[in-house]
Amino acid sequence: MAFVISAPCIDVKDTACLNACPVDCIHPRKDQADFEFVRMLYIDPAICIDCGACVPVCPVEAIYAEDDLPYRWDHFIRVNTEYYKK
Ligand code: SF4
Repeated sequence: MAFVISAPCIDVKDTACLNACPVDCIHPRKDQADFEFVRMLYIDPAICIDCGACVPVCPVEAIYAEDDLPYRWDHFIRVNTEYYKK
């Protein structure tokens, strides 16, 4: 299981979660080339350690444990995973 960033992050990209994550598995960072082109941030499910540190710092409540993700946002599991397949 991993944590998942969902719809409320779109066009927000606050980045507080990146600073909270102890394993640097949320991207892109502001200094990465694609930051300005993506509409949201993504969690790498292969690296996420399920610590939950990113959840309380998100100002728009976009981050959920995979099992707690609201049903209407289930496809964001795939959206997060796909970002890391390129
Ligand atoms: Fe990073 Fe922990 Fe959030 Fe996973 S749950 S993205 S490891 S801060």
